[in-house]
Amino acid sequence: LSVAHIPSPLAAPSLQAALGTLRARGLRVSTTRRLILAALYAAERPLNADELTARISADLASVYRNLSLLEEIGLVCRVQFGQGAGRYALASAAEREFVSCESCGTFEAVDPARLEAVRALIARELGYRARFSTHPLVGVCGACLAREEAVG
Ligand SMILES: [Zn+2]
Repeated sequence: LSVAHIPSPLAAPSLQAALGTLRARGLRVSTTRRLILAALYAAERPLNADELTARISADLASVYRNLSLLEEIGLVCRVQFGQGAGRYALASAAEREFVSCESCGTFEAVDPARLEAVRALIARELGYRARFSTHPLVGVCGACLAREEAVG
């Protein structure tokens, strides 16, 4: 049984390409939009609006407004981790998937190739093609497991 790869069109492979997409849509390349995109390209993980606001010293309402526009035109995607605030990543980063700890709330990006065996098993057992790009694979991380074992 072969499992199809996650579709991962590179919405914009670089900051310049992303700015080009804005212009092509007739949208202004404002300082805030440029800074949000630059911060997301520089980030190692999806950021929430508060983190973005702190990184680019813009006001939160403006960050939300611009994120919503960038999401609408397909440059940015929203990643939901549990009950917390949504986080934002470049749409091109959708090729990365995420694991998240329900105990300490930490999360990390994972190369989708590392989840292929899991995906194949889920496909075989349940008939689902799983993806962990917009909702992470949730469990308990190694550090929390070690702490639980230490406590007893
Ligand atoms: Zn943990």
